[in-house]
Amino acid sequence: MSILLSGGAGYIGSHTAVALLQAGQDVVIADNFCNSSPKVLDRIEAITGKRPALIDADLCDREAADAIFRSHTITGVVHFAGLKAVGESVQKPLLYYRNNLDSALTLLEVMQAHGCRQFVFSSSATVYGDQPAPLHEDSPTGGCSNPYGWTKFMIEQILLSACAADPALSVVLLRYFNPVGAHESGLIGENPNGIPNNLMPYITQVAVGRREKLTIFGNDYPTPDGTGVRDYIHVVDLANGHLAALNYCAAHTGCEIFNLGTGHGVSVLEMVETFESVNHVAVPHVIGPRRAGDLATVYASAEKAERMLGWKAEKTLADMCRDSWNWQSKNPNGY
Ligand code: NAD
Ligand code: UDP
Repeated sequence: MSILLSGGAGYIGSHTAVALLQAGQDVVIADNFCNSSPKVLDRIEAITGKRPALIDADLCDREAADAIFRSHTITGVVHFAGLKAVGESVQKPLLYYRNNLDSALTLLEVMQAHGCRQFVFSSSATVYGDQPAPLHEDSPTGGCSNPYGWTKFMIEQILLSACAADPALSVVLLRYFNPVGAHESGLIGENPNGIPNNLMPYITQVAVGRREKLTIFGNDYPTPDGTGVRDYIHVVDLANGHLAALNYCAAHTGCEIFNLGTGHGVSVLEMVETFESVNHVAVPHVIGPRRAGDLATVYASAEKAERMLGWKAEKTLADMCRDSWNWQSKNPNGY
């Protein structure tokens, strides 16, 4: 009996694999490595002493997906697989809609055929669009500013419809806020291709000397210091949230939505200053123009996950900065 992690070789999936293995669960990872490296399996084994089963498969491929369920007894699925670069999704919308929707639909059909009914989905705070913080699970969704966000919105709708049609299904939609940090071993972490879009990998690549300076996208937002505010969550806390979600799935049917965030907003400048002081390393930075589509302030209400899943984020901003830097400095060029 295993948990299938689609996209389990990626940033969040690999940390979740570690958490599940350490909790004594069997794990099957299915990934096509379009944004990850098979080397992550060695690292997971080095941390946990256990090696998850690995299937090199495109989850859009119905036959390949079916073969996973024929060769393993899968009791639940966490669906991480997907393309996630916001800017690229604007340039290549069809690629994003095809890959993200097709992989989700294929997995759901194959699960149905094999009688597997527990599904945890990696959604995103981006589905809220421009709504006032704190964001609650029942805040309005839609109004996404890019195709990536729309894929998350559409898959949420698909899952709500699937649950309405099949009362035996058990689905948890996890809306992640801003995952950062790395496993404290420094063996696994975030490994973006090319120029990072996200703040933390950009900071760590500047600190390690791969990039000259960070550009802060605007300091004229209506926030305490004028820079954008987000809810950064340590990826190990996030991984543990998946264990709680799987336990919830096993005990309930229907579709439930949870924010996974800390409930606290942190500005770009606060992040840079904390990173520098915790790690004793300089992050040269300049103020630039706002980035198109960015919101001033985004943070979660984290109350529902604590109340219903018994989960809350434990790690501090200093932990996030220390662990991100530990990973980057030990792996300056990634895996
Ligand atoms: P990631 O790119 O590191 O991991 C995704 C994995 O899915 C990669 O290993 C990739 O190779 C694999 N993959 C993609 N398409 C596939 C396919 N068709 N078949 C098989 N494997 C495929 O990304 P991540 O940061 O770990 O994110 C995991 C999930 O969480 C994604 O769905 C992402 O959209 C979502 N999410 C991420 C963030 C974030 O900031 N990291 C925030 C909100 C939501
Ligand atoms: N940001 C920045 N410079 C960068 C990358 C990001 O100033 O090189 C800011 C961005 O404007 C936002 C915050 O950092 O206010 C988080 O951005 P990220 O892309 O990591 O997350 P998202 O905007 O998707 O929540």
